[in-house]
Amino acid sequence: METLLMKGKPVADAYRETIIARVARALEKGRKVTLAIIVVGDDPASHVYKDRLMKLAESMGIYVKEILYPADVKQEDLLRDIARMNHNRYITGVSSDAVGTAVTASKDVDCLNVKNVGDMYLGYGTMSPCTPRACMATLEHYGIELEGRHAVVIGRSNVVGKPVANLLLNKNATVTICHSKTQNLAEITRTADIIVAAVGKPCFVTPDMIKEGAVIVDVGINAVDGKLVGDVDPAVVGKAGAYTPVPGGIGVVSNMMVMDLLTRKE
Ligand code: NAP
Repeated sequence: METLLMKGKPVADAYRETIIARVARALEKGRKVTLAIIVVGDDPASHVYKDRLMKLAESMGIYVKEILYPADVKQEDLLRDIARMNHNRYITGVSSDAVGTAVTASKDVDCLNVKNVGDMYLGYGTMSPCTPRACMATLEHYGIELEGRHAVVIGRSNVVGKPVANLLLNKNATVTICHSKTQNLAEITRTADIIVAAVGKPCFVTPDMIKEGAVIVDVGINAVDGKLVGDVDPAVVGKAGAYTPVPGGIGVVSNMMVMDLLTRKE
C-alpha cells in the first residue's frame, strides 16, 4: 500500500511564522525573547542538540544564552545558578539537560517542573514536553484521526513514552503502554492503529510487528555507523498507512516545539 510520509519540516514550518510574530510582538514591548540552554559535560549528543536549538532559535530572532558546565560541576552550584535564572527577568525560558526539574514552571521549556507535569496529566493548560508535543502536532498536521483508535506506545520514559501516552489519551485514543517487561509485544503492536516507538533501539519495530495501514510515529534517534536511525525499520514503508521518517521526522518538529513553548505567552 502507499505509505504517507509524515515529514517534519512542513509541520515545523507551520509554526515558524507564528513564533516569529510572537518574538516581534515581545520586542515591540521591549522584551527580547531569550532562551538559556544549560549543558553539563561533553556528551556529544547533548552538544549536537544544543547547537541545533541555538541555530533554530537564532534563525527566528530568539536570543540564546549558552551555559556550559564541566561534568563534575557540583549539584549545589548548578541549582544556585538555575535559581538565579528563575529570577532573571531577561531570561524567558531555560532548557537544562541536568536538573530541569529545578527550572521554575513559567520558564520550564522542557516541561519537567512538577507543576507543569501535573497540569499536563490533569489536562490543564497547554504545557507538555517538546517531543510528545511534536508527535501530537505531526499527527494533527497530517489529519490522523485519534478518537477511539488503539494507540500503542512502546517506551515509558518520563520525557517521551508516558507523556505521549497521556496526550493520546486526552485525544480519546485507547492507549496501551509497552515497555521492556511487556510480554508478547508483537501481538499487541499488531492490534495497533497507531504506534509510537520510543525505545532507543535501532530498527526495533519491524514490518511483521505492524498491521497493514497502521500509523507509525518513530521517535527514536540512534547513531549507527555515523548515520541516524530510528526505532522503526524503514521497511514498514509499503505496509504502514503513514510513517514519520528518521531523520527528517519528529526530531525537526521537536526542536520547533521548544520555541513554541518559549514564546507561548508572547
Ligand atoms: P529511554 O528513557 O531509554 O526509554 C526507553 C523505553 O523503551 C523504556 O521505557 C524501556 O522500558 C523501553 N524498552 C527498552 N527495551 C524494550 C523492549 N525490548 N521492548 C519494549 N520496550 C523496551 O528513552 P527515551 O528518552 O524515552 O527515548 C527513546 C528514543 O527516543 C531514543 O532513541 C531517543 O534518542 C529518542 N528521543 C528522540 C527525541 C526527538 O526529539 N525525536 C527526543 C527524546 C528522545 P523500561 O522502562 O522497562 O526500561
